[in-house]
Amino acid sequence: MVFLRQIDAHGFKSFADKVNIKFDSGVTAVVGPNGSGKSNITDAIRWVLGEQSARVMRGAKMEDIIFDGTENRTPMNYASVSLILNNDDRVLGESAEVVISRNLYRSGDSEYFINNEKSKLKDITELFLDSGLGKNAYNIISQGQVDEILKAKPVERRKIIEEAAGVMKYKNRKHESEKRLDE
Ligand code: ATP
Ligand code: MG
Repeated sequence: MVFLRQIDAHGFKSFADKVNIKFDSGVTAVVGPNGSGKSNITDAIRWVLGEQSARVMRGAKMEDIIFDGTENRTPMNYASVSLILNNDDRVLGESAEVVISRNLYRSGDSEYFINNEKSKLKDITELFLDSGLGKNAYNIISQGQVDEILKAKPVERRKIIEEAAGVMKYKNRKHESEKRLDE
């Protein structure tokens, strides 16, 4: 199974210093006091996967994700985040490891990379298509979404579970081939 092995962040929100956050396969719990940067970790993941909404990133404008300084530290000019995915099962192409990166500069310039090669957001979206990953997949469930899932009617909840399980693409394909048979 593909799993997130490491997040490298520099200049992203509270991560002023270059940080390498390592994960093992299995369950990891992140604990810490309020405001210590736990949610900034999931924000970093969403961001690299192509999040375009400043509001979803909990800011007013996208530039707000760049470290904006503290009493004794000057602000940074850019934010850079890489996700290093273990790809032993070759779900995401032929390499044992896949590195996805996104940079944003105060000038507004923004760049994406796949395995250190300059890429477009579309390439990242396509890479994750059908893999159950990606920014709209249910791999990040926010506090609000937990409520939504609990309050959903059974049919809606089934849809959410089917999407998370990757059943939707098979349903769509079935629907497409049935349509062709009818023609
Ligand atoms: P809680 O337990 O309350 O959910 P948390 O551990 O999830 O807290 P985060 O929301 O991840 O905390 O982190 C918030 C911190 O990140 C705040 O201290 C905020 O000042 C800091 N922060 C956010 N954006 C920036 C930025 N651009 N530059 C510097 N610090 C930032
Ligand atoms: Mg939080």
